[in-house]
Amino acid sequence: MAINLLDYDAERLGQLMVQLGEKPFRAKQLMKWIHQRGVADFDAMSDIAKSFRQKLAVDACIAPPAMMAEQIAKDGTRKWLLDVGTGNGVEAVFIPEDDRGTLCVSSQVGCALDCTFCSTARQGFNRNLSTAEIIGQLWWANRRLSFDAARVGTATNDDTRIVSNVVMMGMGEPLANYDNVVAAMRLMLDDNAYGLSRRRVTLSTSGMVPQMDKLREDCPVALAVSLHAPNDSIRDQIVPINKKYPLKQLMDACNRYLEKAPRDFITFEYVMLDGINDKPEHAHQLAALARSTSCKFNLIPFNPFPNAGYQRSSREAIHRFRDILLQAGYIVTVRKTRGDDIDAACGQLAGQVLDKTRRTEKMLETRPIIFKSGGDA
Ligand code: SAH
Repeated sequence: MAINLLDYDAERLGQLMVQLGEKPFRAKQLMKWIHQRGVADFDAMSDIAKSFRQKLAVDACIAPPAMMAEQIAKDGTRKWLLDVGTGNGVEAVFIPEDDRGTLCVSSQVGCALDCTFCSTARQGFNRNLSTAEIIGQLWWANRRLSFDAARVGTATNDDTRIVSNVVMMGMGEPLANYDNVVAAMRLMLDDNAYGLSRRRVTLSTSGMVPQMDKLREDCPVALAVSLHAPNDSIRDQIVPINKKYPLKQLMDACNRYLEKAPRDFITFEYVMLDGINDKPEHAHQLAALARSTSCKFNLIPFNPFPNAGYQRSSREAIHRFRDILLQAGYIVTVRKTRGDDIDAACGQLAGQVLDKTRRTEKMLETRPIIFKSGGDA
């Protein structure tokens, strides 16, 4: 099978060049063509010797996952469904804002963790995405967005930067697919590829402590942690990986991460679930829990999906919760819900996952679904 060059970060591409009898600097040239100019055809790479281009055309390819569908929400959010073979699809979401464009990237087909309020979890797990499939989401997004900008006459000289920020917050747990995610993030950061600063690449984890320590050494980027609960008993229920790495260990890992992080705070994500984790006493507990960690809170109003079994906290409950954290001296934002008319909001990405774990069946057999009453925001 041909080598897919999208699987290679700078270091490995340099090694590949040597194996192919070429100078290592060819890697830089190739990366610029592939990632900055979005070129998939070796013939177009005019500063590379024709003989080498011909050789590459035989042995190698530039093969991002195929784009199957695009949906555009009323607020301009776009969701792409990418074909990752054998009936599976993953989703990437582009969120335009006044001062930036953020791409939300998936790392796995489904997710093996079992967070009870997340629709990706309900899909079960199929497999890890390859580096090519992860970076392919950014490759596509830039190509697609610059194509549209050119068509409507708003293209600038800086079209490779239409995506200015990446968040590893799509389908999957990125730290459970460590090697491929790190290779893809290295490409995001590489000046010959996407050239994003470490502060503009954010990885979100449910709290895989050993991998957080490893990331701190290998590729420190901005870190978000899905906290979602102020104590172990609630977190054990809704983010089950907490049973393996409870809050004390998680908070210690956050403090260690901060020693090398490109930003001087961790973002704690906190999904607001009506009646579950949104009471004033929870906010006070949370304020105490995070006391010795430099952090910001991002409250995420729960985004519903069919048979979720949860409801979004009321607007009043969210404001009350926010105010308690503010009074305790924290910086708090409430995440705006973007793209929910196309199911592109947090926790709504489902793609097409052929579950290998029988998770869905097992869940239906064993888990009583909690139905809550109460107001909506
Ligand atoms: N697995 C990683 C990456 C997912 S990021 C992680 O857990 O951090 C997506 C964020 O949206 C996480 O904070 C996740 O907990 C949150 N989320 C999941 N389902 C949600 C829902 N239905 N409504 C709002 N946020 C949700």
